[in-house]
Amino acid sequence: MSQDDPTEFQARLKQFEGRELGEPFVARDPVNIPMIRHWCDAMSDANPVYTDPQAAEGSVHGGIVAPPTMLQAWTMRGLKPPPTKGADVQKELWGVFDSRGYTSIVAVNCDQEYARYLRPGDLLTHSVVIDSISDEKKTALGQGHFISQLHTFRDQRGETVGTMRFRLFRFKPPAKGDAPKEAPKEAPKDASKDPSRPRPPRPRPGMTRDTEHFWAALKEGKLLIQKCRSCGKLRHPPEPMCPHCNSLEWDTTLSKGRGRIYSFVVMHYPPIPAFDYPNPIALVELDEGVRIVSNVIGIPKDDIAIGMEVQCEFVACDDDLTLHQFRPVAK
Ligand SMILES: [Zn+2]
Repeated sequence: MSQDDPTEFQARLKQFEGRELGEPFVARDPVNIPMIRHWCDAMSDANPVYTDPQAAEGSVHGGIVAPPTMLQAWTMRGLKPPPTKGADVQKELWGVFDSRGYTSIVAVNCDQEYARYLRPGDLLTHSVVIDSISDEKKTALGQGHFISQLHTFRDQRGETVGTMRFRLFRFKPPAKGDAPKEAPKEAPKDASKDPSRPRPPRPRPGMTRDTEHFWAALKEGKLLIQKCRSCGKLRHPPEPMCPHCNSLEWDTTLSKGRGRIYSFVVMHYPPIPAFDYPNPIALVELDEGVRIVSNVIGIPKDDIAIGMEVQCEFVACDDDLTLHQFRPVAK
């Protein structure tokens, strides 16, 4: 078999399945209250079972527990991690991918499962096994292989307290100029230009009883801003309670639809067939003072600028959906 034989290469990859990435790593510190407190601060998680000893005592936990999502934090190896003990299987595997031109990598997804709450004093050990390596797949990023790692976290008694399945994609970066040819295979950049695939309808915005008045008014060509009946302040997006005075009484006022681009991004990826790309999305500050998210239309993306004056237009996407879109005001 030749060096370039894909079957031979796949067989080489398969040999990595089930192999452990070095020796299990013991956490540098046991589960501890200061780290829990910093995490809760960073996450704005005010649940008292994580930080208030008295409240935690009276809870079903009977004492302080760590937020389950901290699982991976306990065995972080630090900014200058010590060398992996045992065979560096990860390095070996990356070498195999590199040798065949799969030089790019992207993290795909991560699922965690928690067997129990962790408590201060628990000392975790973290081991990683290569769970599976897929056949070659063609994606919008390029051709490559998905690598699934199974991370297992055990406590001081050797019992599994949580697992994490982490998926990576190792791929051949498309050569310059190749991208548009390869990318549309699975996800067309603009389905409206592909006659073989009817363009799907634009996804519906999230509508609730608190916001439906806003979307209904767009169908009538009206941009409504919610106004507190008690203090008179305007707010957007619509919500049931005034953030200034807590009043639940509200009304709406009709916006003139004129404003300025406060900030914007241009979406390129992932290409969703219902949208045109590049897809500029702006935060528009209306003259009335509130900010609203919208597409910018009628202008090349490179000409969009912060501070640009824009005017609202009502665009019927289909029979059920009319959306507000902003177009630069002609000077
Ligand atoms: Zn108010």
